[in-house]
Amino acid sequence: MNNEELFNVLKNSSVVGVVIYQEKGRIVYANDVFLKLLGYGKEELLGENILDFVSGSDEFISEQREIIKRRTKGERFPYEDETHLFKAKNGSIIPASVFAYTINYNNKPSGVVIAIDKTKEESSKNLFFALSQINQLIVREDNKNRLLQAICDILVEKVGYLAASIGTIDEITKLYNIQYISASEEVKQALLNTAISVDESKPYGKGTVSAAYHTGKVAIVSEVTSNNRFGYWKDAYTKHNVHSVCSIPIKKRNKLSYILYLASDSPNIFTDLYRHLLEEIQSDIEFALEKIEKEKYSKMMITALNTGFDFVVITDNNFNIVYVNKATEKITGYSSDELIGKHHSIFSSKTHSIGFARQLYGTLKRGETFYSPITYKIKDGSLVDAKVIIVPFKLEGKIEYYIAVGEDITEKEELYEQLDALINYDNLTGLINRASFIRSTERFIKRAGIENIVGAVVVINPVNFKNINHAFGFEAGNLILKEIAARLKENLRKYDVVARLESDKFGLLIKELKNEIDITVVVANMLNSLRKLYTAGKERISVAFNIGISLYPKNGLSASVLLDKANTALMDAKKKGENSIGFFEKSLEDAVSKRVKLKTDLNLAISNKEFMVYYQPYVDKNRQIVGAEALLRWKTGDRIVLPLDFIPLLEQTDLIGEVEQYVFDAILEEICRIKKLGINPVNISINLSEKSLYQPDLEEMIVSEMDRLNIEKNLIKIEIVERMLVDNFNYVKSVIQSLRKQHIGFALDDFGTGYSSLAYLSQLSIDYLKIDISFIRAIVNDKRTRNITESTISLAKKLNIKTVAEGVETVEQFELLKSFGCDYFQGYLFSKPVRAKKLEELLKNRLL
Ligand code: C2E
Ligand code: CA
Ligand code: CA
Repeated sequence: MNNEELFNVLKNSSVVGVVIYQEKGRIVYANDVFLKLLGYGKEELLGENILDFVSGSDEFISEQREIIKRRTKGERFPYEDETHLFKAKNGSIIPASVFAYTINYNNKPSGVVIAIDKTKEESSKNLFFALSQINQLIVREDNKNRLLQAICDILVEKVGYLAASIGTIDEITKLYNIQYISASEEVKQALLNTAISVDESKPYGKGTVSAAYHTGKVAIVSEVTSNNRFGYWKDAYTKHNVHSVCSIPIKKRNKLSYILYLASDSPNIFTDLYRHLLEEIQSDIEFALEKIEKEKYSKMMITALNTGFDFVVITDNNFNIVYVNKATEKITGYSSDELIGKHHSIFSSKTHSIGFARQLYGTLKRGETFYSPITYKIKDGSLVDAKVIIVPFKLEGKIEYYIAVGEDITEKEELYEQLDALINYDNLTGLINRASFIRSTERFIKRAGIENIVGAVVVINPVNFKNINHAFGFEAGNLILKEIAARLKENLRKYDVVARLESDKFGLLIKELKNEIDITVVVANMLNSLRKLYTAGKERISVAFNIGISLYPKNGLSASVLLDKANTALMDAKKKGENSIGFFEKSLEDAVSKRVKLKTDLNLAISNKEFMVYYQPYVDKNRQIVGAEALLRWKTGDRIVLPLDFIPLLEQTDLIGEVEQYVFDAILEEICRIKKLGINPVNISINLSEKSLYQPDLEEMIVSEMDRLNIEKNLIKIEIVERMLVDNFNYVKSVIQSLRKQHIGFALDDFGTGYSSLAYLSQLSIDYLKIDISFIRAIVNDKRTRNITESTISLAKKLNIKTVAEGVETVEQFELLKSFGCDYFQGYLFSKPVRAKKLEELLKNRLL
């Protein structure tokens, strides 16, 4: 085959590019493959000098010029170049293998150049190289941060991509958040400052990151400039010479955890041809992350197993379970698949005191070890008592995991008690007798001495029980005794002990107390339950009690001493009157008396349902209810105490947190009820005190409970007063920010009283501004107040904050405020604070 014939065969090929030039290198022919390779149209290329499309050193170019001269004079000789570089229209460099000959074309000696695209070959070489580098890295790197950064570095520095980044998708903003990146400083800044989203409705949500996010597969674009889906980034692509990009989703347990984004300055670097290699990179990284995680767990496991406990549960720092051992599966009945990824509240038994969760989260967040018996709920709904140690596990100074190790003590302790009860039980009540109670107490003391725990012996005596027997008969008396025994058991944990010590005297052994003061919670609840009416036949009988308490180890180190001292305390309690509680140690009683009394009262108040939550609706300009504010009331006897008369006291004594927790629970309960009634729920606001706002576990408490009940977060608004901002603006700001990330809203209450500054409003993300009642009162008659109110409303509007007028009492005030553009209105004109039932009625109609 001569050169001309060869040309005729090749020019129609679909893989080789063919171009012909004549004198001075003027292009006279180019086939479609060649045009496509360089990205030009036929008209753009014909007539141009071929040397303008060749890249190389000056020396190389003059060599080529010489060749052109020789060929166009008719000299015939072959030329071959493995890596000839062409310049494409878009500026990128295209490597190709080149063969050149001289032919006669249109009766003129001409040069023909046959070019075979090598970019694809390059790209596969690159990818193989990338893979081998990543594999080497995986073997030696055991730190996640370093690994992911090194992967980016390798891909850019060794493999030669323009940029490599690894990031996560923010579930709220839907933005690609770059966490590791490698690129030149310029490209790095550009990439970090470019919006990349997975929200496909956004112009910047249509790229490969978004595709990888939605499909879970490697997403490739081999030439970005020819695809207008990427129009949003067009300028950036041009400026930084980006041609092909690809996004690789990195998954963890089938859930997306990162996206690796690669950009190259050559087209066709990422193509379907090499999808399998990109997928290999994907699975390699996934494997490496898993390996690192496993190694971390095994480190933790060794820590955990050395303690000799039964079960091990590891959670991340949001208390989501990441690991459980076999024993956990056995004890709880859940498989590890059912547990991993779930919040640890899946085990919550709801049997602990209000302060318990606070203490638990508080201790752990401070990085300290938490030790306590905990009652868990397992899969079949039954309760398991376990002795648990939870240790925060720090990596590089930050708490990353919590390891809970525990021992199931339900069976062990119960076994003893059951054996004892079998031999020494009381026929009437089924409780153990005095001798057996003493043995149980001794057993506890032996163990407590080793483990350093606190306990209490409690004796309980119904007042004048003889008279009851006398008045209602022995039959009724027996029924009441049985009922007392049942109520006592009901209010204790399984491993606590209840005994009938004498005919009308009961004994309790409270085995594990976090601290002494907690006994007041247990006993106050107990007393409250015991005081409820008893039924014997047709009779409804009221019984009063006295209670005496001694504490281990403070009051004694043996069972009989503790029992004696509890009896002494009981005598004291009797002197104080019915339903009194006495402590053996007066110094303790005095030291804590105020606190104990208030705390006892408070606990009694809570279990007596003396605290009540009222709701005051607020309306829009059409008097339609848009939300309600929860307001606390304390009802003692027939008297309703208003919050201002007891909240300051609660704040002083640190008890406010527990009450606000109660208010919060009540609100959530109410939202559930409203939903159950088929009524559309409205926003409910809660007033939080400064103390609550500073609880380290505030967010955790709010979020976990709402998640558990499946309540939309945006239904809750937190009201805070300006004063709280003054003390520690930055802290409060961060609390607001992180709760708002969870979609919980905020209102600034009593605005205008004292510290009002619109300046810090602009720095906070506040949803509502509540204009204080004092302004509303004066608004009709005082011009200055009217002006201030009006400009406050319009400023708030500019900041995108809704205004709420408090204490609107007259139509005049309402009309005036409406004319100012105020958004919402609250006050007696529409409704006073009402009980939950009434709120539900109002919500059915919605109009006030
Ligand atoms: P606040 O947050 O400014 O609540 C509004 C108060 O104004 C409520 O008084 C409400 O009953 C009253 N009010 C509403 N409309 C009118 C009206 O048209 N005229 C008049 N004269 N008063 C109206 P309340 O319920 O006595 O509460 C007083 C304060 O106690 C609240 O002021 C709030 O700061 C605090 N508070 C209430 N519940 C809680 C709570 O759970 N936690 C905390 N930390 N504070 C609470
Ligand atoms: Ca309020
Ligand atoms: Ca207020």
